[in-house]
Amino acid sequence: MSEQKKVLGVYGAASSHWVGDGFPVRTVFPSAGVRELSPFLMLDYAGPVRFEPSSRPRGVEQHPHRGFETVTIAYQGSVDHRDSGGNSGTIHPGDVQWMTAASGVVHEEKHGKDFTARGGDFEMVQLWVNLPAAQKMSKPRYQGILNAEIPRVEFGAGAYARIIAGELNGVEGPAKTFTPVNVFDVRLEPGGKAELHLPAGQNSALVLLRGEIAVNGSATLKGAAQIAPLSPSGETVAIEAKAESLVLVLSGEPIHEPVASYGPFVMNTQAELRQAVEDYQAGRLGRL
Ligand code: MN
Repeated sequence: MSEQKKVLGVYGAASSHWVGDGFPVRTVFPSAGVRELSPFLMLDYAGPVRFEPSSRPRGVEQHPHRGFETVTIAYQGSVDHRDSGGNSGTIHPGDVQWMTAASGVVHEEKHGKDFTARGGDFEMVQLWVNLPAAQKMSKPRYQGILNAEIPRVEFGAGAYARIIAGELNGVEGPAKTFTPVNVFDVRLEPGGKAELHLPAGQNSALVLLRGEIAVNGSATLKGAAQIAPLSPSGETVAIEAKAESLVLVLSGEPIHEPVASYGPFVMNTQAELRQAVEDYQAGRLGRL
């Protein structure tokens, strides 16, 4: 019998803040409770919030990134992305945008035109995934992953996982990653149960976006934007839903390298951060 991972704590997000005029987010980590979860750098949960119809797309005007990846998961509403590498795309509910900034991009993130005109409920996650030093200056990449391309693992009545990246029960997710990373979108009806196998030695966490779950028969997460980091030891975690629940499961091999970050840049040293700012200001990260 494989050993269960231990729940290391349950932490709520701090108060919400706006990113641009389109994303009212709660930062689930880093926080006082979860300072470090390498290779994951940050997770913002936007919404759920209702937007009225508008003629002008809300969002974040053009800004740079270097040294990591931004992963946007759409639950409700849509997001348009356009970057200096010439990539663009719109993601809708169930779709994922896996954007590798690497050596650098300038991009803008706006509500989709369809959503802007129609209005409605908006709910997204943006996850930042670090890159190893050897790949920080590699070529930028964009993966627009459609809902239909994301395979499911069913756990029985009222519970399934969508495998965005990595592998569960032999089912592989479509996202290409630079280091071993598992990202599962787990959806449970009340009473639904899921047992997940996560590799020992990885950093992992359960993020409850909304709902109520019991983890390993004991720890309870309830409400919105809660995180439960799990022990690297052990290989399984059991979730039981007390209400309809949306859980994002993260697990990844830690990158044992120094992290130097400044706003939208995540490098290994202060000198590399200064270079990133200089390159951006000189237009070397490209333009839209
Ligand atoms: Mn961005």
